[in-house]
Amino acid sequence: MVEEQTHLGDDSPREACGVVAIYAPGQPVAHLNYLSLYALQHRGQESAGIATSDGERITVVKDMGLVSNVFNDRILAGLDGHLGIGQTRYSTTGSSSWRNAQPVYRGAAEREFALGHNGNLTNTETLANESGMLPGTIASDSDLIAELIATKIGEGADHNSSDGRELERALLDVLPKLEGAFSLVLMDEANIIGVRDPNGFRPLCLGKLENGWVMASETPALDIIGAHFVREIEPGEMVIASATGVKSIYPFTSDRVDPKLCLFEFVYFSRPDSQLYAQSVHHARVRMGEQLATQAPVEADLVMGVPESGIPAAEGYSRQSEIPYAQGLVKNRYIGRTFIAPNQELRSLGVRMKLNPLRDTIEGNRLVVVDDSIVRGTTTKAMVRMLRDAGAKEIHMRISSPPYRWPCFYGMDTGSKSELLAADLTVQEIKEYLDVDSLSYLTLDRLIEATGTHNSGFCTACLTGEYPVDIPENLTKEVLETRNHEKQTSEDLTVGDGQTLFSPTTLNRE
Ligand code: SF4
Repeated sequence: MVEEQTHLGDDSPREACGVVAIYAPGQPVAHLNYLSLYALQHRGQESAGIATSDGERITVVKDMGLVSNVFNDRILAGLDGHLGIGQTRYSTTGSSSWRNAQPVYRGAAEREFALGHNGNLTNTETLANESGMLPGTIASDSDLIAELIATKIGEGADHNSSDGRELERALLDVLPKLEGAFSLVLMDEANIIGVRDPNGFRPLCLGKLENGWVMASETPALDIIGAHFVREIEPGEMVIASATGVKSIYPFTSDRVDPKLCLFEFVYFSRPDSQLYAQSVHHARVRMGEQLATQAPVEADLVMGVPESGIPAAEGYSRQSEIPYAQGLVKNRYIGRTFIAPNQELRSLGVRMKLNPLRDTIEGNRLVVVDDSIVRGTTTKAMVRMLRDAGAKEIHMRISSPPYRWPCFYGMDTGSKSELLAADLTVQEIKEYLDVDSLSYLTLDRLIEATGTHNSGFCTACLTGEYPVDIPENLTKEVLETRNHEKQTSEDLTVGDGQTLFSPTTLNRE
């Protein structure tokens, strides 16, 4: 019997989705969408889909699997038109099934539209109840948004003659009702639309093609199709591109607009070649490593990063500390994301399928091992064991973010509170659990400084328990329980200089 499905080697939180919308008259928009989705594959590997329109009708193709599995030349050739949207998904609400693959399509009155969503709504249940939807009629929060829009377009059809602005009008009515995280791309037969929620939890940027416009989760999705970056779409902004050009609308009241970009986009989620808040993500990660070296120096022989996301911070640590950088772990690039492991022994071997230590580099050396985060801790523990087996003399773990203690409700799958290693353990206990010689988490202040953004506005809820948007009532209890834990452990974890858990927390064995 299968006891457990473990995400092999994926100890990090998993991203919800990548989205793209392209308006490109005279160009094969399906192929452009495909390439852009390809650049966003890291944001979701469960399903992929593209919707296109030739101005008359919308065609949608979506399926479970990677972008390269779902599409081929023949399928792309069947996606006609000069405008389109695409989405690649990792499920955080709704099940992982074809029904939940996106774009979501709806026909309403004489209109057709399609929608792709990155993020999680926090008021899905309330909105569904208020709208009189029967339980089970919507498959996910994205499905709910589509249903609300379709209903509004249907109502408007009784009062307005068709002027091609039905989707825009419906959005102006529906968007202010949504709470939580939503970077959306939408299209009807003639327009593409990008929307960012008033907190801007998830990124969304605007790019220009020679003859057209692109909106995408991250800037590499622009680079890959030769579009140049224009700007980030602002929190609370809706951008519409069509034959008449581009226009911006702000559907939310100003009191709701409060930039809170997910800080983990900088730490882990976004590609290193992305730009966020006008900063290079790669350079920010290198600076995080430099900050770690300043905060938690240690005598060691080598600095190594946990592939791939820990490597830029390891470079920074090495540069700042002047301890040589070395590759100590090799990553198998061709492994699938999940692995059904019937017992603990096989689950441990599963980690080896992803990472293998370089014994010649490791043996007899004192190592500084840098990673971006520890979420569940199982992979980190297995990796430490591998390094010890390979002859490491000392292992000093350095993490380029603070302890991940609270669950995310804004579009990251971090598992429940009970799965978060740091939720119930002190840093000292984590060090003992991992069996490392020392452990240090980067402080929040230093992390934000390393982004180079002068704190342009971040969500830090999973690190601080301060949720910028109220979380669903049925989930409040779990979080409150966690907060009680904080009160208890912040006293326990006060270190010598009088700073608390969220200040420098370097614990050395000696
Ligand atoms: S809770 Fe954490 S992972 Fe979720 S949006 Fe906020 S910073 Fe990002």
